[in-house]
Amino acid sequence: MSTPQATRHDVIVIGAGFGGMYAVHKFRELGHDVVGIEAGGDVGGVWYWNRYPGARCDLMSVDYSYGFSDEIQQAWTWSEQFAAQPEILAYANFVADRLDLRRSFRFDTRVASAIWDDDARLWRATTEAGAVLEAPFCIMSTGPLSIPKDPDIPGLDRFAGELYRAQKWPHHPVDYAGKRVGIIGTGSTGIQIVQEVGRVAGELFVFQRTPSWTLPMRNHDLEADYIAEMKAHYPAMRRSMRMNPTGGTRPVTTRPFFSLPPSQRRDVMEHAWADGGHTFLACFSDLLSNPEANDQVADFVRDKIAAVVDDPATAEALKPRGYPIFARRVCLDTEYYETYNLPGVHLKDCLADPIVEITEKGVRTEAGEVELDMLILATGYDALTGALLAFDVRGRGGRRLRDKWQGGPSSYLGMMVEGFPNMFATSGPNGPAALANLITIAENDVDWIAGLIGHMQATGQATAEVTPAAEERWMDEVRALAEHSLVRKAKTWWVGSNVKGKPEGLTMYVGGFHKYREACEAAAGDGYADLVFEPAMEHA
Ligand code: NAP
Repeated sequence: MSTPQATRHDVIVIGAGFGGMYAVHKFRELGHDVVGIEAGGDVGGVWYWNRYPGARCDLMSVDYSYGFSDEIQQAWTWSEQFAAQPEILAYANFVADRLDLRRSFRFDTRVASAIWDDDARLWRATTEAGAVLEAPFCIMSTGPLSIPKDPDIPGLDRFAGELYRAQKWPHHPVDYAGKRVGIIGTGSTGIQIVQEVGRVAGELFVFQRTPSWTLPMRNHDLEADYIAEMKAHYPAMRRSMRMNPTGGTRPVTTRPFFSLPPSQRRDVMEHAWADGGHTFLACFSDLLSNPEANDQVADFVRDKIAAVVDDPATAEALKPRGYPIFARRVCLDTEYYETYNLPGVHLKDCLADPIVEITEKGVRTEAGEVELDMLILATGYDALTGALLAFDVRGRGGRRLRDKWQGGPSSYLGMMVEGFPNMFATSGPNGPAALANLITIAENDVDWIAGLIGHMQATGQATAEVTPAAEERWMDEVRALAEHSLVRKAKTWWVGSNVKGKPEGLTMYVGGFHKYREACEAAAGDGYADLVFEPAMEHA
């Protein structure tokens, strides 16, 4: 029985990022009554929140965009090879306008709980404001990177200066001129902020714990001829993206590192370095499986750092050591290392001199206090599972997702969870999540879910649920692939080690997007043999 004051729908979609936007469109197109719920004030997801200086996507614009509508991809024109946040957000808004998506969303609305009702066979989502929404299907498009994480440093609330979090950046302009600015965190976010703010702040103090690997982005404006060519070939390009391990157009190689003589290897790397972007990752096939090959590539990149940074001690501190290159999400930068040659930019090596506390005036390390006017936190996310566990999700028999995932997330194709009928995630944990193009993954996932719901309608089924054995089989595959990957070997958000108390382990499918897509297709092609269905009442 449904709750009297609840609004009733066919599908609830949580999140208005690229996954949630497409889900709302797709299910509406199929004739469903869809309601979207979004904590932010508008569409865009991570791109709505992340307005920090220098925010930019490090996937190529033509890759990091929807392929489901040729009309949209023909109508939208990217200006740069790697688009900045304002342009990506403008694109999300363009799509929302074009498809009239906003009428299906409730913005500024946070979900407090999503609970499966076994008797009524529907999901009941309650918002923090107390509204209740019900639907047989619930799609979690909550994003792998949407729960910001403050650093575990005492005293944060004591700081009397301006305090900003990269992932919750204010909508008003921030003035750095003449100020003493500090930043904690040197992942992709921190690197983008440093290279931007370092040029305008009075002084910038970069508190770096683990140095990241970063490669030159070599961004540039897109020429009209290239755009025309791209638009003419979008359909073929999208097809090839679906067969690519990264879900993008980045080249792949089958050439192992030691198959070439040393001078040729060096030529290959120099060429990729000059080319910019992630092409460096495509130089050799075994960079994430052969430690010796990985070491040599790491040395090449460390030499590049030394060649740019004037002060030898600073260069040394910036060189990542002790974990494989590419085992931590590699960043793309624009003259990041050059920033450290500016007289006002100071690297604080927190491995040698750890942060002790944040004080009223600034940051105190073991060596002393650094007084600041402004402190920026770029300390990452409770990633992959954070957003799914941020509210109370309960499946069959009231079982909590938090309890089920106490030892780490388990799911089927990253989309379905045993014990949680008719609940789906897009770009969820145990899928390729952050290892491939998130828009390509989201499109794949939404299409797969839509296919399944269509199958249920055609065959008169009310619920679909993955069997324990099928979930375990998928997890065995995820774990077996992870075992052979060097990706496990760094302490990062990829393995959950950045959040105290979080179970550690690689919970992403490292077999490549193409293999993931094949697995999804096989699961559907098999007549959904891994799922159990309950018929609708009139069919029972
Ligand atoms: P991140 O990679 O997790 O980096 C967080 C940083 O904060 C690390 O340097 C970490 O140091 C530091 N940190 C955390 N707690 C600290 C403490 N107590 N003391 C000192 N340092 C501390 O997070 P992110 O930079 O936000 O990036 C997350 C992901 O978002 C990226 O990997 C990428 O997938 C995505 N992203 C993409 C782009 C892009 O497309 N260009 C841009 C931004 C983000 P430790 O490593 O030592 O813990």
